[in-house]
Amino acid sequence: MNASAKPILVIGGGIAGMTAAVEAAEVGYHVILVEKEAYLGGRVMRTHRYFPKMCPPTCGFEINVRRIRQNPRIAIHTMATLESITPKARNFRAIIKVRPRYVTGEYSIDESLAEQMTSEREDDFNLGMAKTKALYMPHPMAYPHTYVLDREALSDEDAAKLRESSPAGAIDLDMREDEIEVDVGAVIVATGWRPYDAVKLDNLGFGQYQDVITNVIMERIAAPTGPTGGEIIRPSDGKKAENVAFVQCAGSRDDNHLPYCSAVCCMGSLKQVRYLREKNENARATIFYIDIRTTGRLEKFYYDLLEDEHVTFIKGKAAEIHKDSGNGDLTVDVEDTISGDNLHQKFDMVVLATGIVPNLADLKLPIDLKYDEYGFIDGSTGIEGVYAAGCAGHPCDVSRATKDSTAAVMKAVQYLNGGE
Ligand code: SF4
Repeated sequence: MNASAKPILVIGGGIAGMTAAVEAAEVGYHVILVEKEAYLGGRVMRTHRYFPKMCPPTCGFEINVRRIRQNPRIAIHTMATLESITPKARNFRAIIKVRPRYVTGEYSIDESLAEQMTSEREDDFNLGMAKTKALYMPHPMAYPHTYVLDREALSDEDAAKLRESSPAGAIDLDMREDEIEVDVGAVIVATGWRPYDAVKLDNLGFGQYQDVITNVIMERIAAPTGPTGGEIIRPSDGKKAENVAFVQCAGSRDDNHLPYCSAVCCMGSLKQVRYLREKNENARATIFYIDIRTTGRLEKFYYDLLEDEHVTFIKGKAAEIHKDSGNGDLTVDVEDTISGDNLHQKFDMVVLATGIVPNLADLKLPIDLKYDEYGFIDGSTGIEGVYAAGCAGHPCDVSRATKDSTAAVMKAVQYLNGGE
């Protein structure tokens, strides 16, 4: 390594950002990792399992956390965003804004202290399907494993309890936002993605009918750490979901929504069909698709499901979903494009395979990067020394995101050593 090299700034602490940070630090570079949430791991941490091995997200995450812990060259700022960044003669001056956590992290906090709180907040890790106390651990595997205090949700009564009962120096109710100024030599943009807003698909009933859910909600429902403890039940009445429809390309490959293929949602739904079938041998799944896109070795995953007589594949784009006012079942209207039949099939729950939108689509970074028309940085960022990784660049799965990150680190290292 170039011993005089400035640090690499990694924006985003999801799987792509974590990978970039450890790869760069392990070849000797200092890294500043900035993550807007209170914990690292990004959206992958909210999944029940990820393909192809169907591992829980904690597997790869624990390895990355161990690599981070062992490496003193990585500085992590959570609850932090990039306020400004100015390129200057092969350097960048960045200002990072850090929101107050109100928990100093210097002393451990006993769970019973959080349990004493009466004030609650929406559990954003569980997509609003549960509540947490105002003093909360973001999720069981959170790293850093430090409580967060939602100051706005905290009642005066609970604030008084914290003043009385928390160990001295553990909580600072007057903590302020902090600003950190750093000089860095290269930047990796790993800002990730969010699901397409399914409310915009008004023919598919999301937001209208409780039992029309999205694929990201399904991940939390299937996860043992989720709001149902891993029971796949329908949200409206808690009834076991036994007959579930999966509607592919919900928003993607549609000129009125996302004209591109989101690349991962076919595999995502096939994986969720596996969750359903593993948890309930009587459950049935029907997948409405335009094409099934499973590339490379992932195709076997699809072929295995074709053998399952409880799983039906229907080629056709769901036209409309409506609800039976009697038993609450949902009807999917679809034209089967192979038989030409117009189908009206009933289900007790429908999962929409919503597509991937880059976070940069509307939350642009404070630097003039080159985006495509959808907000991805596909290829060059337009600024030497700045490189994109993972879903900041294109829709991709975990495996592809980590490869992107390694490539971005390679480019950053070349740049820091005088290349372009
Ligand atoms: Fe549609 Fe599958 Fe592409 Fe997702 S991956 S947009 S479901 S074809």
